[in-house]
Amino acid sequence: MTDNTALFERALAAIPGGVNSPVRAYGSVGGTPRFLVSAQGPYVTDAEGREYVDLVASWGPAILGHAHPDVVKAVTDAAARGLSFGASTPAETELAELIEERVAPVERVRLVSTGTEATMTAIRLARGFTGRDLLIKFAGHYHGHSDGLLAAAGSGVATFALPGSAGVPAPIAALTLVLPYNDLDAVRAAFAEHGDRIAGLIVESAAANMGVVAPDAGFNAALAEIAHANGSLLIVDEVLTGFRVSSAGYWGLDRSYTPDLFTFGKVIGGGLPVAALGGRADVMEHLAPLGPVYQAGTLSGNPVAVAAGLATLRGADDAVYAHLDRTAAAVSAEVSAALTAAGVAHAVQTAGNLFSFVFGESVAGGVRDYAGVLSQESWRYPPFFHAMQDAGVNLPPSVFEAWFVTAAHDDAALARIIEALPVAAKAAASA
Ligand code: PMP
Repeated sequence: MTDNTALFERALAAIPGGVNSPVRAYGSVGGTPRFLVSAQGPYVTDAEGREYVDLVASWGPAILGHAHPDVVKAVTDAAARGLSFGASTPAETELAELIEERVAPVERVRLVSTGTEATMTAIRLARGFTGRDLLIKFAGHYHGHSDGLLAAAGSGVATFALPGSAGVPAPIAALTLVLPYNDLDAVRAAFAEHGDRIAGLIVESAAANMGVVAPDAGFNAALAEIAHANGSLLIVDEVLTGFRVSSAGYWGLDRSYTPDLFTFGKVIGGGLPVAALGGRADVMEHLAPLGPVYQAGTLSGNPVAVAAGLATLRGADDAVYAHLDRTAAAVSAEVSAALTAAGVAHAVQTAGNLFSFVFGESVAGGVRDYAGVLSQESWRYPPFFHAMQDAGVNLPPSVFEAWFVTAAHDDAALARIIEALPVAAKAAASA
């Protein structure tokens, strides 16, 4: 079976919504999802044999480009030695050390398999360490799908306009205080009211799951200061930004503050399931077996996945980050120029080499929070998306997601994007 429509119908009968992660269902752009069968460098290929320039990059991990030879070799070599041992391996320590070398405040690392597990564990640890229950998160930020973190979340929760999730008991939801992003007065007010009950704040280092919304200059540093003045912990979620926007993540772009805990994922697994939490030794040592905060995983530190992560991080040198920065700047400038030429008011939202677009006159100066993101003319995105797809460019199937470039995006890939843009921009204009 090679037809995308037939494949989707078959999937719909076997899998809820035909997908194993909601945004893949094209719920907000409409149409039939492409079923992908292979990926190489900057390209992905669907079951019908059509090739697309990929600006999703598996939502971040494929930083070196798809199926990079060094990563594939590391994975096949590791697989030949055994898929999983359920015991410690030397490579796990190497990966932990590499993360600690690059992100100075990280003194200990615990490997897990998904970003959701990393943030869930970081929060449990913050609660176990402080003996407090409340957690602050910001509207539009996505930290995975654990119970306490779905309130006003970004990514698929935003794409499908969900207020949160059914199945989360009210007493658990009540432990999460949701504040507007980039609003330090709201943070100060929450601490003034509940300070001695707040275990921690969790923040995306730069928001990238409601589209991209960078923190105001000094915002993350102020969060660290407020948290520490109140005996709370700052958890910086770098699952998406970590080792993507610089060799030390978004923190690496402004080292003036010291988070207590970080979470990582995506790039550190290079496309296989690896994520991590890391931070202050005295906090991390509250994890079992040293401390009373429990966390475990049959496949945590899986040798094949860790091999992919190590090869990816080792390949991500200064030249790779320079290329990502240049490519992101070029793609976003071309998209912006095409939109302007077609008369579509918009803003380019950036955080390092991550970018996305908001549409409409009222947001043309850029947006700073979730309310701003929601106020855009989001209906202009689906026709833009489909015109790009028809011309062989794979974009995120939601306006509430970041765009991702890779080290493999070369002039040929860029040329194909540029060629597709005028028609797509016109489609956005007439929506
Ligand atoms: N935190 C952030 C900032 C993310 O972007 C994501 C996933 N997009 C997660 C957590 C959850 O990671 P995972 O999908 O691996 O559970």
